Amino acid sequence: MPENNSADIGIFGGSGFYKLLDNAEELTIETPYGMPSAPVTVGTLSSKRVAFMPRHGSKHEYPPHKINFRANMWAMKSLGITRIISPCAVGTLKRNIEPGHFVLADQYVDRTTGRADTFYDGPGATHVSAADPYCPELRSLAEHAGSKAGITVHPRGTVVVIQGPRFSTRSESKWFSGMGWDVINMSQYPEAHLARELELCVLNISLVTDYDCGFEDIPPVSHELVTKVFNENLQKLRVLLVNLLETVPLERNKCKCGQSLVGAAIS
Ligand SMILES: [Zn+2]
Repeated sequence: MPENNSADIGIFGGSGFYKLLDNAEELTIETPYGMPSAPVTVGTLSSKRVAFMPRHGSKHEYPPHKINFRANMWAMKSLGITRIISPCAVGTLKRNIEPGHFVLADQYVDRTTGRADTFYDGPGATHVSAADPYCPELRSLAEHAGSKAGITVHPRGTVVVIQGPRFSTRSESKWFSGMGWDVINMSQYPEAHLARELELCVLNISLVTDYDCGFEDIPPVSHELVTKVFNENLQKLRVLLVNLLETVPLERNKCKCGQSLVGAAIS
């Protein structure tokens, strides 16, 4: 890969977030896992080399359960990046987390099924820890980046990831709230874990778009609502990203994300 096609930080776009970089070079990358959702655009933002890919495709062709997450992550890794930023739209499961707020998830609960969620299919067994799935250094930097921009950022939270493409029933949503989980989404898993399997730092930035459907006094979520609120808050996300990129060091020495495979393989 030529040096001008390399990058330090990878950013995935979610629903409503299909373009980030101007004057970017577009790269079509084949991977051992097939084609990613879209070409990667590589350019400079806040003086960092950044690679961007809309995880649902350039025209939102791929619903969450059809995304080739492995190809997407592999393509990012092939550019030499060491850190992944993973913004997404979420519904809130708590009244104090409101539409327009951001949540930096530090945990996920996987309720998906049948997704290709590992690079280690054998032969041999590799068990990568998911105890702390997100990078603590990036979360801390993102919290400060949000505060600097006057954005309401919840510095931690649990995202429950459902299979989709349907939204939850009211009973499911109440169950998730009752478990103490904070927000709900369809794409954080296996994206976050696949980053960890490649020893990449990964940061979630959840943009709250709706109240899901567990509150009887609030109309249930619809895709139309998700898109509307996301678009209204997209500029805030861009500001947060620009502020964050300014402060992300290229060297990784405050987290252990780069040693995820140490002791993970059974030989
Ligand atoms: Zn890290």
